[in-house]
Amino acid sequence: MNLISHFIDGQLTHAEGTRQADVFNPARGEPCARVALAEPRDVDAAVGAALKAFPAWAATPPLARARILFKYLQLCQQHVDEFAAMVVREHGKTFADAQGEVARGIEVVEFAVGIPQLLKGEFTDQVARGIDAWSMRQPLGVVAGITPFNFPVMVPMWMFPVALACGNTFVLKPSERDPSASLLHARLLKEAGLPDGVFNVVQGDKVAVDALLDHPDVQAISFVGSTPIAETIYARGSAAGKRVQALGGAKNHMVVMPDADMAMAVDALVGAAYGSAGERCMAISVAVAVGDAGDRLVAALAERTASLKIGDGMAEGAEMGPVITAAARERIERLIGQGVEQGATLVVDGRGHRVDACPNGFFVGGTLFDQVTPDMTIYQEEIFGPVLCVVRLPDVGSAVELINANEYGNGVAIFTRDGGVAREFVRQIEVGMVGVNVPLPVPMAFNSFGGWKRSLFGDHHAYGPEGVRFYTRHKAVMERWPAPGNSGAGGGAQFAFPQMK
Ligand code: NAD
Repeated sequence: MNLISHFIDGQLTHAEGTRQADVFNPARGEPCARVALAEPRDVDAAVGAALKAFPAWAATPPLARARILFKYLQLCQQHVDEFAAMVVREHGKTFADAQGEVARGIEVVEFAVGIPQLLKGEFTDQVARGIDAWSMRQPLGVVAGITPFNFPVMVPMWMFPVALACGNTFVLKPSERDPSASLLHARLLKEAGLPDGVFNVVQGDKVAVDALLDHPDVQAISFVGSTPIAETIYARGSAAGKRVQALGGAKNHMVVMPDADMAMAVDALVGAAYGSAGERCMAISVAVAVGDAGDRLVAALAERTASLKIGDGMAEGAEMGPVITAAARERIERLIGQGVEQGATLVVDGRGHRVDACPNGFFVGGTLFDQVTPDMTIYQEEIFGPVLCVVRLPDVGSAVELINANEYGNGVAIFTRDGGVAREFVRQIEVGMVGVNVPLPVPMAFNSFGGWKRSLFGDHHAYGPEGVRFYTRHKAVMERWPAPGNSGAGGGAQFAFPQMK
C-alpha cells in the first residue's frame, strides 16, 4: 500500500521502521494508504532544512518570491481536480465541494502574489530636525502550520502562501487522516521553482506537534483544529516564546426571524448544516427560530433533511458524503442518543444510515432535532457531524443573549428582511464572522478569517492582512545622516531625554 511520507529539503523521505498509521477511504470504510508518523528527529530534520534555507529566501526580493508563487498558482489551477479527487478519497466530501475547497485555497495564493504591495512600510520625513523615521516588516524565520482533517487542501493554504511570500520558511504538519494533499502542494511548489528547504512537510500526530512546539528554531505556530487542542497549543507554544495563532472549534447559530424569506433560509440551512456532512468549522449546527418562524422552519427542514442524497463523494448527484472515521460516526450517534435522552424532539434520525453501494462506509444520515435547550449536551458540544438542532426563542434579544453566552464565537448568521434588526444584531453579537442572509460568512482571501472567544487563541486571524502581520515583525527605524547644519553632528553628548524643538 502507498506510504505517504515526509517532504524535507526538497525530497520525499521517511526513516525505515518508524511508526505508521492507516489512512482510510471513509466512503468505503477501508484503508487506502499508510502514512508515516514523524519522530522528533524527523521534525528536527525538517526544521533544520527550513533554517538553512531561511537566509537566502528572506533575502530574495519580494517580487521574485511572488513570481514563484505565481507559477505555483498556475500549477494549482491545472491540478484542481487532482487535489479534489484526493480530498474525496481520504476525507469523503463530494467532488464539487472539494473543488470549491481548492478554489478557496487558491484565492489565498492570489492574495499572496501581491506581497510587494503588502510589505510596504511607512515613511515620515523630518520627525525631528535632520531625522527621518520609517518602518519595515521582516520575516520571522522558520514557521510551522498544524492543520485539521476537514480542509486538507485549503487550511494549509490559509498559512503557507502568506508565510512564504513574507520571506519565512515553512514546516507543515497536516492531519494524519488525509495527508496526501500536502505532498501535492510540495510537488507543485518545487515545480514552480521554490528552493529546497523553504517548504517542508512532516506527517504525524501529537509526537510531531509537540516536537514543533518545543523546537527552539521554530518562531511561530499557526494551528487550526479543535478547541481543547488549540488551547494547549497556544499555552505551550507561547510559553516557549513563540508567536501562536490557534483557531479552534465552533457552534455556529443561524437566527431565523419570522419575516425571513423562508425558502431562502431553508436552502441556506440545509447546505450549511449538512454540506460536508457538517464537518466544517463554519457549519451551522444550531438554528434559532424566533417567534412563529419555528413551525414553518421545522416542517420544511424535516422534508429536506430526510431526502438528502448521501453516498460516495464521487457518486453522481451526491449532496453529502460519509464522516471521517468509524469513531466519529460512533461519537455522533452517541450524541444523538443523548439528545433523545435529555428530552429534545428527534424529527429526523440519521443513525444507522446505510448506503447500498458502500456498505462499509462511515455514513451518518442527516439528523434534525427540535425543541433543543441550552442545557442539553447536543447544544453544548461541537458535534461536527450532520446534526442540526433547532432552538425556539420568542425574540431577537433572547437569541443574541443565547449566542453571546455560548463559549464559541466563530460564525453566526441572521435571516431577516428587516435592516434595522440585522444592523443591531451585527453590532451586538460577540462572534468573529457574521452573515446577514448569508449562512457561511467565510471572509475572502484579502480579508482575514477568525473567530472570537474559545474559537481562537492568540491575537491574529488567519490570512489576509492579519496573516501578513502574523508572519512578519515590524521594525521602526530612525535615521540621521551627518550633514552641514544637522544639529546632531558634533553638538556634544545629550543626557536629558531628547525633546522636539
Ligand atoms: P484536531 O484538533 O483533532 O486535530 C488538528 C491537528 O492537531 C491535527 O494535525 C492533529 O494531528 C493534531 N493533534 C490532534 N491531537 C493532538 C494532540 N493531543 N496534541 C497535539 N496535536 C494534536 O482537529 P480535527 O479533528 O482534525 O479537525 C476538526 C476540528 O477543527 C473541529 O473542531 C473544527 O471546528 C476545527 N476547525 C476549526 C477551524 C477554524 O477556522 N476555527 C477550521 C477548520 C476546522
